[in-house]
Amino acid sequence: MDKKDLLGISHFSDYFKPGQLVFDLKAVDKVQAVEELLDVLAKLKLIQNRKLLLTRLIDRENLESTALGEGIAVPHARVDSNGEISIAVGRSAAGIDFSAPDKKKVHLIIIIIWNPQLPGLFNHLFAGLAHFLREPDFRRRIFEAKDKNVLWETLGEIELRLPQEDKIVSRAGLLRKLQEIEKKKKKAPKAQIKTLTAQTGLLREELDHSLLTRFDKLMERYGFAVAEVDEGVCQSCNISVSTEMSSAIDGSNDIYICENCGKYLVAASPKKKKK
Ligand SMILES: [Zn+2]
Repeated sequence: MDKKDLLGISHFSDYFKPGQLVFDLKAVDKVQAVEELLDVLAKLKLIQNRKLLLTRLIDRENLESTALGEGIAVPHARVDSNGEISIAVGRSAAGIDFSAPDKKKVHLIIIIIWNPQLPGLFNHLFAGLAHFLREPDFRRRIFEAKDKNVLWETLGEIELRLPQEDKIVSRAGLLRKLQEIEKKKKKAPKAQIKTLTAQTGLLREELDHSLLTRFDKLMERYGFAVAEVDEGVCQSCNISVSTEMSSAIDGSNDIYICENCGKYLVAASPKKKKK
């Protein structure tokens, strides 16, 4: 995609139409929810291979939940299709279990299917969505929308900008998972390599090229690229990060970069925190 296109501000509603918004999902679990939204896209002829997409979306979901927390999930798949990007949004009043990190039920599901020819577009969309949807006031307005029109208009306020350079929005879980699988791959028996490579491939498709280049360099040099911040200290270099960064990292799914050692910083996993 032309870089210029990414620099301008666009709105989330530029990428889908009211017909792709379901105000009252009937689904009671995540597979049903994905199916229901794929049906909408199939009916509008915005997708072709529903069966393949369902498999891709659910496989990805099972690898690492796409729930952002606070009742929102963004299942997604990168599929080579004629279309550029297909989006469907569903609201569930009762809430659906998406194995969210915060264990909360999901009330807003945004499915994004995009073409590999547009590598930057998904990150652009995802960063914009995550940025807006993390605002408690904005989320409240979304969840309290009394009908489809109000919900559509509220979603239309979401602006899409490039993510800030020093912070990678809501991708910490993904990068942590990628590191976990890459490490496993090094020790894995031959029979497992193919499966693990397919899994890393899936995760890599979603991460920016520059982020991955840095990630691979760090992995090659140090054997790891992602470090936890525990009690304000980078666990790679043992130097305190700024108080501001430390509190921003705590409990968030954003990735920061250690100013001292250059590792990607993530919050300490809850298990480790308890110790
Ligand atoms: Zn460090």
